[in-house]
Order: sequence, then C-alpha cells, then structure tokens
Amino acid sequence: MLSYQHAYHAGNFADVHKHLAMFAVQRNLLRKKSSVTYVDTHAGRGFYPLADPESQRLKEHEKGVLPLWRERAALIGNKGSDEGLVGEWLSELSRAQGANARQLTHYPGSPWWLAQGLRHEDKLHLFELHPGEQQHLEAQPLPHDAYRHHGDGLVGLQRMLPVATPRLCVLIDPSYERKQEYAEVAETLAFVARKARHAVVLIWYPLLPAGRHQGLLDDVRQAGLRKLWCSELRLHSPQKEHGMYGSGLLLFNPPWGLDQQIENAMQRVVACLGDEARHRGFWWVGE
Ligand code: SAM
Repeated sequence: MLSYQHAYHAGNFADVHKHLAMFAVQRNLLRKKSSVTYVDTHAGRGFYPLADPESQRLKEHEKGVLPLWRERAALIGNKGSDEGLVGEWLSELSRAQGANARQLTHYPGSPWWLAQGLRHEDKLHLFELHPGEQQHLEAQPLPHDAYRHHGDGLVGLQRMLPVATPRLCVLIDPSYERKQEYAEVAETLAFVARKARHAVVLIWYPLLPAGRHQGLLDDVRQAGLRKLWCSELRLHSPQKEHGMYGSGLLLFNPPWGLDQQIENAMQRVVACLGDEARHRGFWWVGE
C-alpha cells in the first residue's frame, strides 16, 4: 500500500540536496559526447505547483528552496565556478517558472531536472508505481525521449540492463515507507554494478534518528562495491525521536572532481539554510 506523496514535501531541503547533486552529475556527464541513458526509478509527479493544498500543508519549501531562491541574484551572479553551480541551478529553476520567472510558484521534480539536460542522443526512463502519481507524471510536458513506465522502478531498472547507450546514470529515490527498501536498494546497486560496471548511480536516503540508512551503507560495502562517496546535508541535529533531520546521498562512480564540486556547492546551500545546517562529504569506500 503506497501512501507517500511527494507533493507534501516538494522543494524541501532534501530535494535541493538531491536535485543539485543530480544537476552536478549531469553537467559532468554532458562534457563527453557519448550518449547517456538516465533512469529515474522513483519519479514522482515530475512538477509541483507550490500553491497546491498538498504543498501548502507543510510548506516544506519555505525551509528548503525558498531561502536559496531569495539569494538568487547574488548566487546567479557567481556562475561559471564550482561555487557557481548553485547559481546555474537557480537559473534553471527560474526557467521552470515559465512566463513569470521572478516568482517561485513551481518546484520541478527529478524527471524535469533530468529532462532539462537531455540531448537528442540520450534517453530518459521514468518509473512510478503509484497509479495517481503516475497519472500526474503522464500529464507533464517532457521531451519525446522521456519514457514513462508504470511499475516498480528497481525491478524495471534491472530488466533494462545492459542499456544500448555507452553510459548509464541512475537516480534511486525511494520513500522508504517499507524498512526492507534499504536492503532492496543495496541489492539493486550490487546488480547494476555487475551489469554496468561504469554506471553512475545516485541513491538518496533519509537521515533519521533510528539511523536505518546504515544498513544500506553496510550492505553495499559488504557486497564488495568500490568508489562510493557520500554527501550528507543536516538541517539540524537529531533531537527528536522521529522525523528526518538530514538528507543523504550515496554516489557510486561519481565523475572525477564531483566530490569537491558538491562540497563547494553545499557550503553555499548551508549558508542559506540557517545556523544549524551542516554538510559532510566522505568516501564510504574508495577506489
Ligand atoms: N524522485 C522524485 C523527485 O525527486 O522529484 C521524488 C520521488 S518520491 C521520494 C518517491 C516516489 O516513488 C513516490 O512517488 C512513490 O509513489 C514512488 N514509489 C514507491 N515505490 C516505488 C517503486 N517500487 N517503484 C517506483 N516508484 C515507487
């Protein structure tokens, strides 16, 4: 039974973390000519009007993307450097607002972020299991090369391998409504690593007081995988028994230099998110 709906959380600090890192990965991949297949295993709706009742209920974007949006004039002025990654990302976000680019009215989800960097030789596969969310996704104006699948993204990804393009980039972004999902994600990564050794994979995980993500990290290490880098963005310390206090990303085969690029970008993000915010990047397993 799926109950999670991303519209309640669109544009929160975890979205900023994940989408900015994804943007950095894609920017690196675009430096080479060879084509890329992108797979988004848990796509969600793709686009979120922030005035919708779901987004208005928790207003999580007010502690996520909004503080960065308010600083955009200064941040966009700094484009072209690693620190300027945030500025480039904000320029894209501005483009997503359509005619009235001065106001933040919409927050784009991972399908939109991946689609914005799609070249005609690249492919994009989007998986969504929730029938209602899938209907929203079908309604989004995405490029023709964006294939939308109604089904389980982890199973779908495994069935697709190996892909026809020389390169593969995967985003795995579950809601972790079931505790077993941590282990399933780790198994999927081990499978991908066997079938597509050079794939670049981003896995999002929540930082919760229960520390459940540790099982995922331990599993991939025990599976013998290498080149695993983590980026963790904490909004505050884990004070409460429940509730997400931070956002984590596990990157398999990050392009060279990406660790430093994300580190620099996250320092900008942290400065906008408040006194308690922190970023920590570390190699979980090296070369
Ligand atoms: N990746 C999206 C983004 O960044 O905009 C957000 C995705 S949200 C965290 C997780 C989504 O996965 C939900 O829309 C949920 O319905 C969907 N989902 C849950 N289990 C799934 C599965 N096994 N396969 C595909 N989608 C699934």
